[in-house]
Amino acid sequence: MKVKVLRLGHRKKRDLRLTTHVCLTARALGADEVILSGEEDSSVLTSVRDVAERWGGKFKVSYEKNWRKVLMDYKLKGYKIVHLTMYGIPIQKKIKTIKKCGKLLVVVGSEKVPGEVYSVADYNIAVTNQPHSEVAALAVFLHELFGGKELNKQFRNAKLKIVPKERGKEVLRK
Ligand code: SAM
Repeated sequence: MKVKVLRLGHRKKRDLRLTTHVCLTARALGADEVILSGEEDSSVLTSVRDVAERWGGKFKVSYEKNWRKVLMDYKLKGYKIVHLTMYGIPIQKKIKTIKKCGKLLVVVGSEKVPGEVYSVADYNIAVTNQPHSEVAALAVFLHELFGGKELNKQFRNAKLKIVPKERGKEVLRK
């Protein structure tokens, strides 16, 4: 399955950490790419690319000012659009159907998401109907989508690899 994430409405001053965490969470839990929109911010791109380079895998991150174009381009490429929002249908009612889609563009917002996104989306999905965070919503969504298999994902060509331990830290370096 191909999974890309569109992060809407990045604000340089306020969202540096959160947008970086959206990207790192997407990468760690099995998404292929994050497309950032909102204010252009090379520091997010640089820090996420740096992590991906050191920790391995094929994850990509890019910037596109025109998020409408991203939605339309991906629709044309046969992707289904899943918009994560607390106003949507509970994930547990739709995940079986979503799992059958081969290609997904998962949209997460920051501040108010334009109404148009709700209409363009194939699925408006809530991870509980309570307000929380785009990072949490994305993490739970990917976990439900991949059914836990993402927890065993291997990252090829990693320069850094952790040796899991009950206590202490061990990192292998190439
Ligand atoms: N009013 C917004 C909404 O529609 O969910 C809350 C904004 S929240 C700070 C930023 C983003 O987190 C939202 O655009 C949405 O992608 C995600 N989010 C927050 N709570 C969520 C929930 N319960 N289910 C799914 N996504 C959620």
